[in-house]
Amino acid sequence: MNENQRLPAVDRVLQQIPELIAAHGRQLVTACVRAELAAAREGLKHGLPLPDEASLLTAIHRRADEAGRAKLRPVFNLTGTVLHTNLGRAQLAEEAIAAMVEAARSPCALEYDLDSGGRGDRDDLVSGLLAELVAGGSPDIAATIVNNNAAAVLLTLNALAQGKEAVVSRGELVEIGGAFRIPDVMRRAQVKLHEIGTTNRTHEKDYAEAIGPKTALLMKVHTSNYAVTGFTATVDEQKVAKIAHAANLPFVVDLGSGTLCDFAAYGLPPEPTPQQALAAGADIVTFSGDKLLGGPQAGLIVGRKDLIAKIKKNPLKRALRVGKTTLAALEATLRLYRDPDRLRERLPTLRLLTRPVDEIAALGERLLPTLQAALNKLAQVSVEACSSQIGSGALPVERLPSAALVCRPLARKPGKSLLALERAFRSLPRPVIGYIRDDAYHLDLRGLEAKDEAVFSAQLHNLKF
Ligand SMILES: *Cc1c(COP(=O)(O)O)cnc(C)c1O
Repeated sequence: MNENQRLPAVDRVLQQIPELIAAHGRQLVTACVRAELAAAREGLKHGLPLPDEASLLTAIHRRADEAGRAKLRPVFNLTGTVLHTNLGRAQLAEEAIAAMVEAARSPCALEYDLDSGGRGDRDDLVSGLLAELVAGGSPDIAATIVNNNAAAVLLTLNALAQGKEAVVSRGELVEIGGAFRIPDVMRRAQVKLHEIGTTNRTHEKDYAEAIGPKTALLMKVHTSNYAVTGFTATVDEQKVAKIAHAANLPFVVDLGSGTLCDFAAYGLPPEPTPQQALAAGADIVTFSGDKLLGGPQAGLIVGRKDLIAKIKKNPLKRALRVGKTTLAALEATLRLYRDPDRLRERLPTLRLLTRPVDEIAALGERLLPTLQAALNKLAQVSVEACSSQIGSGALPVERLPSAALVCRPLARKPGKSLLALERAFRSLPRPVIGYIRDDAYHLDLRGLEAKDEAVFSAQLHNLKF
């Protein structure tokens, strides 16, 4: 008798797993059933026994659960980089999450003026709020929001300097991880880059002498992911503003990471703010929504009302604008800045950056026995001092003292064990992302808040090597 005959028909298997079909859809589950039956048939050909029904169903469940899982999954970011671009940068405040959900669920006044009943402008949802937060509510300050800060720079340059020149110091021609390079963005914006000074030194006269009939603006870029030290000279914003204004030109500052609060007040290394840039005379500042601001991915363009109006008229604005959920999250995040006393507790980015190292170390001590038990004889676990970084370009040379669970493989050549450890943590139901350094696998616990501690430790027994 042909062994194939004894494998169940696809339809009969499907009848037994309605809950799996409800979870993942008939199409995907049918494909999984077919694939498992084919694998069993192949096994029979090679002399393997016919799988019993229970193990066949288990295999189908495993296959469907894996194939049907969402690709964008939550993870534990224990890399020590708080604003990790590949892990989604800022975690949103609960207030921002709630606002996004509401905006997603119902019609909302995105471009509708509820006072007049007429057409509204989506930028007005946050423009006044931004003017309040960065310029004391000055009526001369407005804002427009685009997809990210790269878009903010592109749009600003194209709107204010297309076909003309922008003056930038050679020390500030930055590349942000990925594909954002100031010279390339300039070219795409159809602006001619007029480089001045040298890599390490740029002087006032370099700016002044660069200005000619083709100059459209002067620009400074915050060197957000590196530091030039040694024999250096830069011209501060106030002085560049003066030179620009004497020539009747706008002065644009790309801040990159824009925090609206005084980092020093939270014991963090100081970071330039849009408030300072505008007070120093910048006409336009651009910064990211999902870096130190702690909000959704967005690019914020804030500054002189007449220039903002010009930027908004540019056709690229329509191509780069953001949607209602982004604006909902941004408005809710910005509103939190009205109450500095509670900001630390409500804004996850600030909360994570300011966590006391003792608290992080104590968490490590609490988790150590569970992790050591899970790793058994594979690695020795200890709690050790480490240093976190802010990430996404903010404060590149500053480090925040933190504590890590450090797993040192017991094998004489640890290379393979380290990769196995990394893979095992990555394969957990909620993947854990750490880092390898000095022949040890590190989990920087700054990224693990008390509210997630139970979920983290409960899944450790699932580690498989
Ligand atoms: C991060 C950064 C950008 C790009 O911002 P995105 O929001 O990632 O598009 C541009 N300029 C500077 C100085 C930056 O730090």
